[in-house]
Amino acid sequence: MRGWAAGFRPGRLTSVDPRRLVPRTDALLADPRLAAAERRLGRGRVKAAVAAAQQQARAGRIRPGEVAATALAALPAHAASLVPVLNATGVLVHDGLGRAPLSAAARAAVATAAGCTDLEFDLASGSRGQRGAGALAALAAAVPAAQAVHVVSSNAAALVLAATALATGPGNGREIVVSRGELTGTGAAGRLPGLLESTGARIRAVGTTRRATPADYAAAVGPDTAFVLKAHRSRAGGSGAGLADLAGLGVPVLGDIGAGLLAPSAALPGEPDAGTWLRAGAGLVTASGDKLLGGPQAGLILGRADLVTRLARHPLARALRAGKLTFAALGATLAGPPVPVAEALAATAASVFSRAERLAGRLAVAGIDARAVRALAVAGDGAAPGVALPSAAVSLPGELAAPLRAGDPARRGTVPPVAGRAAGDRVLLDLRSVAPDADDTLAAAVVAAAAVLQRS
Ligand SMILES: *Cc1c(COP(=O)(O)O)cnc(C)c1O
Repeated sequence: MRGWAAGFRPGRLTSVDPRRLVPRTDALLADPRLAAAERRLGRGRVKAAVAAAQQQARAGRIRPGEVAATALAALPAHAASLVPVLNATGVLVHDGLGRAPLSAAARAAVATAAGCTDLEFDLASGSRGQRGAGALAALAAAVPAAQAVHVVSSNAAALVLAATALATGPGNGREIVVSRGELTGTGAAGRLPGLLESTGARIRAVGTTRRATPADYAAAVGPDTAFVLKAHRSRAGGSGAGLADLAGLGVPVLGDIGAGLLAPSAALPGEPDAGTWLRAGAGLVTASGDKLLGGPQAGLILGRADLVTRLARHPLARALRAGKLTFAALGATLAGPPVPVAEALAATAASVFSRAERLAGRLAVAGIDARAVRALAVAGDGAAPGVALPSAAVSLPGELAAPLRAGDPARRGTVPPVAGRAAGDRVLLDLRSVAPDADDTLAAAVVAAAAVLQRS
């Protein structure tokens, strides 16, 4: 009760000392609303909020009857540290927003696997089983050209594992031959050389930043070559040599396709896919699970059985292995219904525009300056760079961007923060990156943000 003395402010006291009326901690914790908060957040956090609110009452800043409500208002709705956000940026796979949103089937699979599960346990025999066997089987089934498959925690991890297992250690060549154009660039591509060299492997860059010919590769390949790397870069640079040219050099070719299409996509005809690259002669293909595949963060490794086995059996593989939630989401992504990223890619420009018109119309009725406009979306960070997808957006006054992003913390379950895209003095809510069943939520978020703006 030392806090009483500390909070003593004689000037604020009236005839009845209000400190005596401040509800006791045990009474407050028994309040059904605070008891429910305790079940969600734990006792320590709720007690701390209660103590802070009592302190405010003792200091005369709130009335004793407001202590419970003040403590409740200071507490988050749930213990999750990450806040759900509506992605209206028009970037379908947005690094800052957690890349691909999982399908409903994958979300359900994650929830199911959250407890104890048969991750690495054979229920029939009661003995140890292959880790993530179901997801690995689904991946193998999706890419018949792969003799074997393995899954690690990210595509960067897959590349580190390949470089370590194939280009370091006794009996292996040290050099990774790669075109100069594929090594330069921003984002993942720019960090690729440092990542590979961190394993102790050496990079042997061939050709110029604009072009590397089959002869350039042939001149560089020798006894110390571990493998040839072909990394997907559809913008400037890249290689002038095809996979068939590289496959004839007598060393393994590792193809880093990046975005993770397993088969060709009609919406992105220029984007490489695992099946096509393996059939064209790549010995190994690596890809991300959370870009265009639309699944969880993961590194997919597919290809020749001997090479996949060398990676999977390397001691480093243990440190890069994927977790049960990843295997659960990946299995459901591969075996379940179409994922949100695939649906966003497949939507017609006309259907996206009619959603924008409907939404803008509803908002205009609510007195908000909203218009439907044509826009260009992109597949996203590290996925089909440079390819614009015809899209449509709701254009709003730019002042709405900040309240939209902040959302309403008290109503986060129903009115999530919205990330849009700035365009001059307007903010665009691009609907290609928003699932159609979220349009009502998006409308509610805009109305809430406009109300916040009006109050301020
Ligand atoms: C995204 C990307 C990577 C890195 O993949 P992560 O899953 O982020 O580790 C590597 N290579 C290419 C070509 C990429 O596009």
